[in-house]
Amino acid sequence: MNPLSELQDWLARHWSPDLTVREWWDLLGTAGWAAPTWPVEWFGKGLSDAEHVDVQRAIADFGALGPPGGVGMLLAGPTILTHGSDEQKRRFLPAIVCGREAWCQLFSEPVAGSDLAGLQTRATKDGDEWIVDGQKVWTSTAHHADLGMLIARTDADVPKHKGITYFALDMHQPGVDVRPLRELTGRALFNEVFLADVRARDEDVIGGLGNGWAVANTTLAFERSGLGAGGANAFPSAARPGTVAGDLDKRAGDFVQANGAVARQGSSATSGVRASTLVAAAKRHGRLGDPVIREGIVRLHIEGEIGRYMSLRRKGMRGQGNDLPGMGNLAKLRMSEMFRLGRDVGMAILGPRGTLHDYEGGSPTPAPDHPVDRALTALALWSPSPSIYGGTDEIQRNILGERVLGLPREPGDDRTVAFKELRRNA
Ligand SMILES: Cc1cc2nc3c(=O)[nH]c(=O)nc-3n(C[C@H](O)[C@H](O)[C@H](O)COP(=O)(O)OP(=O)(O)OC[C@H]3O[C@@H](n4cnc5c(N)ncnc54)[C@H](O)[C@@H]3O)c2cc1C
Repeated sequence: MNPLSELQDWLARHWSPDLTVREWWDLLGTAGWAAPTWPVEWFGKGLSDAEHVDVQRAIADFGALGPPGGVGMLLAGPTILTHGSDEQKRRFLPAIVCGREAWCQLFSEPVAGSDLAGLQTRATKDGDEWIVDGQKVWTSTAHHADLGMLIARTDADVPKHKGITYFALDMHQPGVDVRPLRELTGRALFNEVFLADVRARDEDVIGGLGNGWAVANTTLAFERSGLGAGGANAFPSAARPGTVAGDLDKRAGDFVQANGAVARQGSSATSGVRASTLVAAAKRHGRLGDPVIREGIVRLHIEGEIGRYMSLRRKGMRGQGNDLPGMGNLAKLRMSEMFRLGRDVGMAILGPRGTLHDYEGGSPTPAPDHPVDRALTALALWSPSPSIYGGTDEIQRNILGERVLGLPREPGDDRTVAFKELRRNA
């Protein structure tokens, strides 16, 4: 039976809107439909990326709740699949595919963003545990996280890329202090995270001692390709994973209605980068005759099509056992550009009213009345983010220059000199 027929049959037998989110995600995850590209022996179905999108669409079209989203599914799971021991896969992966535990990414620090390998959070060995001290920042969804992908310095006597170790960190322990940071959207998606005498277990080192830079680069590669292609998030579930967000014991069917409304009205923030959404908005506002707006919409359509063809080309090459280096970086750069373009065209359509945004009570309630107009305002406020998170546009271009085109690296001694002897930013 082909996978989509198998899925239809499975959905017909298992989906009920009256299940709780926890019950439904347990069924979906253990059957392999939450992470269908993962290997069959590790809670997946061994399907391709293209089939993954088809699976997500089929679940949405059936009217069932989609799989858990978030960085557990997007980043932690694939990283553990790549570098984790079998014991770690058994410990962490089921809770990710079933949405029982939510993750956050404890990478960036106040003086280590683009220069991530310059991080200063320390982990010091203490018996079969590690004591972690330091500060992370811009940590998305840390306030809902059960676990963190932590990178910390375990050896300052070797060059900076070599003395880093990657841990799975329990976020529910004394010494983890999560403080929200409010964005210009009005939301507080990300946080500062202070770590004071926090414990990490030896058995939760992912990928080996001192190998954290390679493991972190795997996470970042999944982040770039996921964000650039939009594939893993094509149909995000409205329910949030993990023990903190409080959605697991709610009725699954209620989240499907919320998702359906968003899809029907095209009112999610990312819908503003789709040409079709902007055409509909331009018609509604009587602006479709404006040549500047028309040109912007066509450019957005062309960017979207180029992205689609590049993705098909990469899939074709992968099918023959080859790859196109740098595609994740290029896809992320394209996505950043599309967000900027969507912002400019959306604001041109809405005019001055589109700049109104109501922050009252701390909730992001933009002033335009129509849900799509509100989404366009939200998109404009969110649009600087994609060119920063997961590595800025400049860093993507540096990677393309150095690792793909073979251009000389930036001059510096940070690959030969011990971290503790390097000059610090602060
Ligand atoms: C919405 C959002 C969510 C985020 N979520 C997370 C998260 O969950 N976890 C996490 O760890 N981090 C997260 N981040 C942080 C993000 O990864 C960093 O902001 C990013 O890596 C840039 O680091 P920085 O802010 O320290 O800027 P800096 O590194 O200080 O860069 C400042 C400017 O200098 C430029 N620059 C720096 N170095 C170079 C160079 N070598 N060559 C050319 N130009 C350079 C940069 O491109 C940028 O324009 C998030 C950020 C955003 C916006």
